[in-house]
Amino acid sequence: MHLINDFAQRAKNYIDKLNTELVYPTQEAIEQLNQLDEEIRVNPMEAASVLDLLDVIGSPATVKSTGGRYFGFVTGGSLPAALSAQLLATVWDQNAALTVMSPVVSKIEMITGKWLLKLFGLPATCGFGFVTGDTMANFTALAAARHSLLKNMGWNVEQDGLFGAPEIVVMVSDEIHSSVLKALRLLGLGSNRVIRVPCDEQGRMKVDAMPDIHQPIIICTQIGNVNTGSFDLVKEIYTKTKNKNVWVHVDGAFGLWAAASDEKKHLVEGIELAHSWATDAHKWLNVPYDSGVVFVRDKEALFAAMSSSAAYLPTDAMREPFNYVPEMSRQARAIPIWAALQSLGTSGLAEMIETHCKQAMMFTKGLTDAGFSVLNDVVLNQVMVSFGDANTTQQIIKNVQHEGVCWCGGTVWQGITAMRISVSNWCTTDEDVQQSLGSIIHQANKVKQVVG
Ligand SMILES: *Cc1c(COP(=O)(O)O)cnc(C)c1O
Repeated sequence: MHLINDFAQRAKNYIDKLNTELVYPTQEAIEQLNQLDEEIRVNPMEAASVLDLLDVIGSPATVKSTGGRYFGFVTGGSLPAALSAQLLATVWDQNAALTVMSPVVSKIEMITGKWLLKLFGLPATCGFGFVTGDTMANFTALAAARHSLLKNMGWNVEQDGLFGAPEIVVMVSDEIHSSVLKALRLLGLGSNRVIRVPCDEQGRMKVDAMPDIHQPIIICTQIGNVNTGSFDLVKEIYTKTKNKNVWVHVDGAFGLWAAASDEKKHLVEGIELAHSWATDAHKWLNVPYDSGVVFVRDKEALFAAMSSSAAYLPTDAMREPFNYVPEMSRQARAIPIWAALQSLGTSGLAEMIETHCKQAMMFTKGLTDAGFSVLNDVVLNQVMVSFGDANTTQQIIKNVQHEGVCWCGGTVWQGITAMRISVSNWCTTDEDVQQSLGSIIHQANKVKQVVG
């Protein structure tokens, strides 16, 4: 059998069984992985045997996070069109760095970038780049911010670095995602010297508590808090800032996709006033890992921060993809995004987003009716539930994970230990939600009975 057919059969088996297997692998399957821990081989192995080994040992030890009952982190799944397009693109094995290396990838990047800007209601003239995830999208956007603010003060950070440069103030909220702090660290802006603004009970930056800063400043906002799903009031933050040399960044890893829904787009009102935006496609758009996108209003700032040149590289007027991102050689990340958007259409995307929000409400109602407290206003797809004290809640999370009907993680929200439920997978059905609720409530009542 041709290896591709063998592969296709194995892929089909995996997908067919996805929703009937335990969501988390058994301890036994995880222990089997030790079989792979051998010395590097001297003699070649048949390609078919390599694939067989990976499938037989590897597949059972996967987390079924691409199935319908995985609610951990904010994970999303893989739409069939996105998955197969990514696989075809892997067969093509194009280098997405340069147009001359792959006219098709370059063209699809252009088209997809244009579509996304329209979908999110951002200016069509923005620069954009396709990166590995939202962490790199934040990094790329903030590099453009650093370039722009320092350029306005007559300093070229790309040439001269940060030693001796004029100071930039960075403001974030107390609820900023750790990936933004990491991006600031990588950019030499530091994670400790930021000004942190307190948040309200939903995790939104308190606009009233923002200090009035007159120095050049980057303000990092967030739409879609990982715990509550809440949105910073970007418009009010922007309007309150009287500073002329300001850059407002929006981390919209999953929240930006609310813009695709008529029911939810009020949440993103005013974000188009900002200077840069970061999002993930591997979360709510449901493309396979890994995939993030960055948009920057000032395309030249993005280019200045990211471009590189060498004698052997083309310098023509074509949009060279690698000039807008940190990487040079890179895979064709726009292709699965393009395929996802084609297969859903804007109506299908809106419907998917709205279904997940409704399913989050089903969880909320089911848990509340069972007597448990949901800690957040469920404005989007995120639900946080407490079952009592920290130990009880932790034990219930552990037992739910162990039972394997669904998978939910934990968090601590403003001092209270909670279970997180994030609905973001295209294949999650209402039946999946009911089945998962059944498991969660059953496990919770069992632990509560023991605790008394
Ligand atoms: C997931 C997430 C990130 C990090 O994104 P990666 O794709 O994991 O790099 C950043 N910010 C928010 C709000 C997130 O939800």
